[in-house]
Amino acid sequence: MEPLVDSYGRRHNNLRISVTDRCNIRCFYCMPEDAKNFQPKPEILTFEEVERFVRVAVSLGVNKLRITGGEPLLRKDLPVLIEKLARIPGVEDLAMTTNGVLLSQHARALYDAGLRRLNVHLDTLDRERFRQITRRDDFERVLEGIELARSLGFGPIKINAVAVKNLVEADIVPLARYGRERGIEIRYIEFMPLDSQGLWDRSKVLLMDDMLDMLRREIGPLDAVPDQDPRAPATAFRFSDGIGGVGFIASVSKPFCLNCNRIRLTADGHLRYCLFAIEEKNVKALMRGGAGDEDIAALIRVSVGEKWLGHEINSQKFVPPPRPMYAIGG
Ligand code: SAM
Ligand code: SF4
Repeated sequence: MEPLVDSYGRRHNNLRISVTDRCNIRCFYCMPEDAKNFQPKPEILTFEEVERFVRVAVSLGVNKLRITGGEPLLRKDLPVLIEKLARIPGVEDLAMTTNGVLLSQHARALYDAGLRRLNVHLDTLDRERFRQITRRDDFERVLEGIELARSLGFGPIKINAVAVKNLVEADIVPLARYGRERGIEIRYIEFMPLDSQGLWDRSKVLLMDDMLDMLRREIGPLDAVPDQDPRAPATAFRFSDGIGGVGFIASVSKPFCLNCNRIRLTADGHLRYCLFAIEEKNVKALMRGGAGDEDIAALIRVSVGEKWLGHEINSQKFVPPPRPMYAIGG
């Protein structure tokens, strides 16, 4: 089978699967406080539909999967899906991104189902700022979830920290220290224009270079990791004392579109070639209309074939995607 190569020569092997658009917290840069209009259950892909899509995608060369949402741990029986996906021949890498609030409850079942790689979203070690950002008081639950996941043997565990200017400056260094003490890489993610309330503008982004300066000043020298996979979204650095490292997803200051290898399946069954895409393909309608696997494969190829060179966050032309982050799957 021909690999999934787009018109710019980028080979796609990485699929992000959102399993729900609902969430149990309300990070202001992702969801409005009074979020509603979630997809009704019948609109959400069943596990069987997700598995079928993944099998087709794997036949086209996809070998890396990430489960996301909304908050994936709100999806009932998620370990059942994890187990189905982990067993598909050709799936080499299976990871999940979670806000960690329900991790203590589900970590063991997820581990038993075959999940090992986790990204836990935590922007701050300050309980009050956590509440301010997420509009919920679940800080301790996230920390407990991380500790339990560590003790069960999950690894690597990474922390996703969204970097919003004039808000989390005081968190950058404590998070890196927390990661260094636990063998956890902190991945600072520049705030992106994916919020549902149109709050974003460039002046609100805490930039990678500014964070690097803070870390170097307060902790010590940091060196870029040599020979990094150019397709990985994060730029990785190691502390030169040998204790741990950090990564940056610098979508705003250093876009990495030229090496993008990702496609995304939304919880309601739409295929997107980019986080910021305006258009999407309705896979669910195809599947529920009785299409064969070859039709699904053809639709994936069409979507990848239409993929643009990159987002235009830094241009006047930029148009935010019609769906906010929680409805796409980060
Ligand atoms: N609920 C899970 C979570 O929070 O990790 C998974 C879904 S969430 C949409 C995926 C990731 O998107 C989060 O880890 C967070 O770091 C990131 N994110 C959400 N809104 C963002 C924004 N406006 N800019 C940058 N990153 C964002
Ligand atoms: Fe929920 Fe994740 Fe969005 Fe926060 S970033 S509101 S945890 S989906």
